[in-house]
Amino acid sequence: MSFELPKLQYAYDALEPHIDARTMEIHHSKHHQGYTNNLNGAVSGTDLESKSIESILNGLDMKNMAVRNNGGGYYNHNLFWDVMSPNGGGNPSGDLAAAINSSFGSYDAFAEQFATAAKTRFGSGWAWLCVHKGGKLEVCSTPNQDNPLMPGIGCEGYPILALDVWEHAYYLNYQNRRPDYVSAFFNVIDWDEVSRRFNNHK
Ligand code: MN
Repeated sequence: MSFELPKLQYAYDALEPHIDARTMEIHHSKHHQGYTNNLNGAVSGTDLESKSIESILNGLDMKNMAVRNNGGGYYNHNLFWDVMSPNGGGNPSGDLAAAINSSFGSYDAFAEQFATAAKTRFGSGWAWLCVHKGGKLEVCSTPNQDNPLMPGIGCEGYPILALDVWEHAYYLNYQNRRPDYVSAFFNVIDWDEVSRRFNNHK
């Protein structure tokens, strides 16, 4: 079995003006394709070849940098595309909204904590919203292509929302203005998909 670059559920220009078409095209067809190809190369001929990506990340040998970087890059971008939508934005509802209020005090407090995690990640990395068994939510961030599913990452729980803060995710449109990109991201969050993941893993 080899990993395949997923098709996006929307056009490259569908998230404009928040994320521009050129950035989306390069990010998906070049960066994500690169992680996919390199992951396939790294697992080829090993006992990881037949495993799911979540299983690979859960059991990862953190010294295996090829699988750590490219397996993380493969999984993280799959999630990133899935939690954005041209019909996104607004506020979460239902059980997820209740869990956000319970875990952070309010939606606004969550949003501030998530944005701060994204803005203060030095260099390249990701901001996450993760759910623990029982439904408690946690915001965290990781460097490079690390991921909360990896062992000992210090960011526990199952990831239900992800924001890529590598410069390749925003530089063409936002240059050094990462905070503007982070603010714009809230306009494209697909809360229905985040809720689905929350309900499946709480
Ligand atoms: Mn990226």
